[in-house]
Amino acid sequence: MPEIKREVRPIEVNYVCDACGRGMMSPSGDMDADTGDIEHHCLICDHQQTFQWRAYPRIDHIGLDEKT
Ligand SMILES: [Zn+2]
Repeated sequence: MPEIKREVRPIEVNYVCDACGRGMMSPSGDMDADTGDIEHHCLICDHQQTFQWRAYPRIDHIGLDEKT
């Protein structure tokens, strides 16, 4: 495979709290290396939620012609 390059832009991906609908979720600790679980909590109401193999907020990269 030859090397290919394309221009991308960074986007921030946040997760809005399912409980209050206003706060952003933030990691409470490190990922569990066995299960991939990452504890999060809401910055406003402290609602707890676990995400697997993904943390918020995070930065993704998408092509310039892609929609978010
Ligand atoms: Zn909340």
